[in-house]
Amino acid sequence: MKLLFCFHCEDVRKLGFKETYCSCRRTHGKYIDTNNAEYSGEGCLIGLGNRTLARAVVRHKQDGGNHAIDAFTIPRRAPTVVRKETQ
Ligand SMILES: [Zn+2]
Repeated sequence: MKLLFCFHCEDVRKLGFKETYCSCRRTHGKYIDTNNAEYSGEGCLIGLGNRTLARAVVRHKQDGGNHAIDAFTIPRRAPTVVRKETQ
């Protein structure tokens, strides 16, 4: 799962197929297919490990506890990301 993070307002928004904007509107992006995304502005994309997220949610539903999820910044030049220059 890819999330949009804005360096200015520090919003985190889940990307969808419709253009998603942070609250200050300086950063925006969307999925262009099921794996690839494009974004622009003054921010970055954050990846959540889908398997660790699913496992943590299942365990949390069972015990309400604290379960780790893998999260990472996605490199600007990752093959699944197109970074568009802001106009
Ligand atoms: Zn913002």
